[in-house]
Amino acid sequence: MPGLSPLQHMYLEHMGITRWVQRTAPAGPDPGSLPDRPAAVTVVGRTIADDPEWDRLQAEVAACTRCELHRGRTHTVFGAGDRKAGWMIIGEAPGAEEDRRGEPFVGRAGQLLNAMLEAMGLDRQQVFIANILKCRPPNNRDPVAGEVAACESHLQQQIKMIQPSLILVLGRIAAQNLLKVDSPLGRMRGKSWAWNGIPVVVTYHPAYLLRNPADKRKTWQDLQLALSLYPGSP
Ligand code: URA
Repeated sequence: MPGLSPLQHMYLEHMGITRWVQRTAPAGPDPGSLPDRPAAVTVVGRTIADDPEWDRLQAEVAACTRCELHRGRTHTVFGAGDRKAGWMIIGEAPGAEEDRRGEPFVGRAGQLLNAMLEAMGLDRQQVFIANILKCRPPNNRDPVAGEVAACESHLQQQIKMIQPSLILVLGRIAAQNLLKVDSPLGRMRGKSWAWNGIPVVVTYHPAYLLRNPADKRKTWQDLQLALSLYPGSP
């Protein structure tokens, strides 16, 4: 892949893209043809010293008993990152490791998410990562409608307080619940959506990509779409 820095090569390799391209798709668009984006999309981390509204929301989530999931949780998973980030990443719900640690995307899927972010020149401290649900569903089953409804205002308040310039949604469940559509993921990705005027891009969930690495290439296209929509990108 010409034109890439050694660091970008490393990131794409972490995502598994280099190997995939070499094996199966020599003729397609080169996922490594990422222009030198990192400088253009750098989100300046801003630390907010006092933010009572944010603290109130955090406390509300930590004490939440609105649905039955609170009975089985070890920790609520509020979200993590820069609370004034330009990018917000939204997944489905905490898994076992996230429930144990109280942080989103810290298991294997989280490692792949980190690599996806790094491939775009971002790291997880520069974005804000949250989920549709703040508590783990038993055995990682899909969230049910009542749980989503009970948790919805938490995420809505987070988005409104963060006011991201772009939302990247991971997976069908998160996308359907955020965007209130019932389309399959294949029809949601590849275009730009909006949530209250904020551009939204939908891509595969990293846990799915761990099982279906061939779709990393399409994910890379989605990430490039997200980069192209992010204000300040060339
Ligand atoms: N999968 C998700 O959707 N969210 C997490 O936080 C972890 C795994």
